[in-house]
Amino acid sequence: MQTRVCRIIVLPGDGIGPEVMAEALRVLQVVERRFGVRFEFHEDLIGGACIDRYGVALRPETLERCRRAHAVLLGAVGGPRWDDPRAPVRPEQGLLTLRKGLGLFANLRPVQTYPWLQEASPLRPDVTRDVDFIVVRELTGGLYFGRPQRQWQNRRGRQAVDTLRYSEAEIRRVLRVAFELARQRRRRLTSVDKANVLASSRLWRAIAEEVARAYPDVELRHMLVDTCAMQLVRRPADFDVLVTENMFGDILTDEAAALTGSLGLLPSASLGRRRRDGTGLGLYEPVHGSAPDIAGRGVANPIGMILSAALMLRYSLGLPQAAEAVERAVAAVLAAGYRTPDIASTGTTVVDTTTMGERIAAALEESDGETADKVPRPSGPSGSR
Ligand code: NAD
Repeated sequence: MQTRVCRIIVLPGDGIGPEVMAEALRVLQVVERRFGVRFEFHEDLIGGACIDRYGVALRPETLERCRRAHAVLLGAVGGPRWDDPRAPVRPEQGLLTLRKGLGLFANLRPVQTYPWLQEASPLRPDVTRDVDFIVVRELTGGLYFGRPQRQWQNRRGRQAVDTLRYSEAEIRRVLRVAFELARQRRRRLTSVDKANVLASSRLWRAIAEEVARAYPDVELRHMLVDTCAMQLVRRPADFDVLVTENMFGDILTDEAAALTGSLGLLPSASLGRRRRDGTGLGLYEPVHGSAPDIAGRGVANPIGMILSAALMLRYSLGLPQAAEAVERAVAAVLAAGYRTPDIASTGTTVVDTTTMGERIAAALEESDGETADKVPRPSGPSGSR
């Protein structure tokens, strides 16, 4: 049987980015062996590393290569060397160019707690038990992009305006991503808005109701953002999929991240248009930044990066069994007591970045994986989108 080839652009970036990326690639090499798929990795520069070499945070040819790939894996960008706010080129510009250039409008952040890491969470174990939800945040509209956005001065003093604008099409496409996701999970979708105050939220809610008609098997509930902020710390296990606009999502995802106790554990996916089989180009990166305070010391937690690679297997490459196997390998290594320093507690075995990656790769190697012939074969990136 012919082996499927997946083209993946690898952008390690700055700080701990290259350290955690190396471990994700190690795990993906095991996926190749276990699941009868072949990855073509193309490494390129982004962020500060790219500024140092080429004077820009992302080269146009890199963006073009990403467009033609099945998926993009990214470590992290930024660091004190490039932090001057007056600098004409900044590392984050690379990320923004990538998201915009690839048309990525839905940001997914899964949040899951592990029974073995209860001590890492600031919340009581009875609150964080069985937490397993995904936040879908609209990424390209709303307050952060609406115009006018400016500050001025008149006789009454300084004034400022931001604009929260959404079009029907922007709302509909991100809601569809969320409904599809809910369908693959526990079929419960919470749409978060502020419909009692904002016109844009009332449009959001109306469109959510319309889109829901195509998903009668998914239970939709609406929740005001202030109530949601409270429920996330009171009853986080009640959520399955949440979907919300850009700024609400920005704030709620950070709150949700705190439930697990360490930034180093959390993956993310940014998705654009999907093919009929649910796959499509995506950007996969851990939630954390470049962590300059620990870069080069070999202590970074690679789990957020490895779980981001698992999301890539699921949402871009159509390899859900492989994704689950990676997630199970991570859980098995945590259950066996291995910890990087950020999640260490008494009685656990503290390991460095490489050892954590090796342990997860070994757990995956030993797991009961699916065989290649059971793996579905989605169309390539040039398929119908
Ligand atoms: P950060 O996420 O890099 O670090 C915050 C804290 O968490 C630090 O103490 C760090 O040591 C720790 N941490 C983060 N990831 C970890 C991991 N994998 N293992 C163990 N500990 C980890 O956030 P910051 O310090 O605010 O930002 C540092 C740089 O990263 C800045 O230049 C910022 O602009 C950039 N940044 C980039 C991204 C991105 O690339 N998407 C996101 C956030 C911040």
